[in-house]
This record gives sequence, C-alpha cells and structure tokens, in this order.
Amino acid sequence: MTFRVTILGSSSASPTPRRNPAAHALNVHEQFFLIDCGEGTQQRLMRAGINPQKINAIFISHLHGDHVYGLFGLISTLGLQGRRTPLTVYAPRPFDEILACHLRYFDSQLPYEVIWQEVETRKHRLLYENKVLEVYSIPLRHRVPAAGFLFREKEPPLNILKEAIEQYGLGIADCAAAKRGEDLLLADGRTIPNESITYRPYRGRSYAYLSDTLYSPKAAGLVQGVDLLYHEATFADSDKALARQTGHSTARQAATAALKAGAGRLLIGHFSSRYKDETVLVEEARKLFPQTEAAEEGKSYEIPLLKTKR
Ligand SMILES: [Zn+2]
Ligand SMILES: [Zn+2]
Repeated sequence: MTFRVTILGSSSASPTPRRNPAAHALNVHEQFFLIDCGEGTQQRLMRAGINPQKINAIFISHLHGDHVYGLFGLISTLGLQGRRTPLTVYAPRPFDEILACHLRYFDSQLPYEVIWQEVETRKHRLLYENKVLEVYSIPLRHRVPAAGFLFREKEPPLNILKEAIEQYGLGIADCAAAKRGEDLLLADGRTIPNESITYRPYRGRSYAYLSDTLYSPKAAGLVQGVDLLYHEATFADSDKALARQTGHSTARQAATAALKAGAGRLLIGHFSSRYKDETVLVEEARKLFPQTEAAEEGKSYEIPLLKTKR
C-alpha cells in the first residue's frame, strides 16, 4: 500500500543544470497522479520508471509556465502512444482556453479525451475522490489565482478486536454492524461503544503541495496534521522583500507554515536559480523546523504505513 511522492522538478521560473521546473508524481496504492507539469517532466517520468499512461489525473496549481509548459508535450505523447483512457486535468481558469488552442493546432486527432475540471482557487473543496484517496484544493496567495492540493488517504475500514468477539460472543451480524461503526446492544440492555470493540488497522496518510504562495497561515491551517508538506521556499530570508513582491515564500516562512500545520516532515523546493547551493535555505528552515529537507530531483519520498498496535 504505497504512498510515495517523486520529485520530477523543483526549480522555480526556469530550468537549471540540476533542476527542472515544478512537477511531482504521487503514487497512492499504485495509482499515479501528476502535480504540476513543468518543462522536462516527460524525461523525468521516464528516469523515475513511471509509465505516463498510468497517470490517472493531473493537478495544476496555477497557470505560470514553470508549472504547465510540460503538459502539452505530455498530452501529445500520450496520444502518440495510443492512449484511449480519458485524462482529467484539474486546473484554474482559463486553462480551458489554452487547452482548446493546443488541441486545435497540435492535437486535433488525439485518440483520447482530455477533460478539464475547474479548480476554483479561492475555495477549499474536495476535487477528486476514489476508494482510497481524497484530493482537496487549498487556496494560495500568489500573483495569479493559485491553489495547492492536499492528498489524503482515506481511513481504512474498521476491524473487530479479537478479544471483543470472545468477550461478547459476537456473531456475524454483530460484527457487520460494528464494522459499520454501530455500537453493540447487549441482551441485558447494556450498550458497548463502537470504539471499544473496533480499531483501524492503520492511519490514513497525507501529502500537501503548497506552491506558489506567499506565507499563508490559512493554507497551513487547512493542511493540519499533514505527514509530508511540500512548501515552496523560493528565497532566503535576506531576500524576503523580493519574496513578497513576487508572491513567493522564504525558507523561514515555509518552516513557519510547517510548524503551524503540525506537519510530520517538510520538503522545500521551487528554489530561485540565484542560489547555487540550497544549504542556506535548508539551514534557515531547520532553525524553526528541524525535520526539513531540500527536495532532490528524481528522489522519492515514502510515507510509511503506520500499523495500529493491536
Ligand atoms: Zn513557479
Ligand atoms: Zn507562479
């Protein structure tokens, strides 16, 4: 039951020799999602061994080129490879206009459908849901409408405690009711609360992607308790005026967001190319939030399954 983020791009406005513009791949129980799609994403996917045909849906945070230039090449390649499965792209308006233009001039014979779902960047909404995962939009504060995303693994179904089965002599119907979350009604009129006869075999995991944005306490609040937080840290604190002016965060502000969110770990990225070495940014963030790492191109970050002790 995998829950893994792979960094495909962690640079800001332009590519550098070591970093590509923004793109992450998320694997949740072997279902793949792409978050932003900067230039170079196709090659990064190949190097990471992720088959692009397996991508279920794509989430675009905002319509700046460093988050979207790679998408149109990817759409074409998927068609050349014979994709038939529709592909949903969640993106802010006016992505529909850009997509229509691309399809008209470059991919009029595309063998699959690209479906656009609008992300209303000012709203915190459930965007996508399947059996094991929910994806929410997180309003961000940037120069253009932008939203981050929270990927939350659903809580697993309830299991029945073995000792409860013996203690209360639970039958099939009792167990089914308990698994639905119902309390147990005993023949002598006593009620046994559901939580004392059931448990969750593991805890749902979560990943949040907050880029690009000014420091936003509200966004941090909306990803409360997240296991792994990716937060942009385009600048060092010494350049905070520039960060404010361009709608970005400093490493210190990324750490402040992680603290406020009560995150398990913080990954910083979207680094300005002015920093030849990101150590200064990591050190700055670690002063406030020690569990900080700089996102590394091509590296995967696993969120391990924590089994409940029973
Ligand atoms: Zn950007
Ligand atoms: Zn941007």
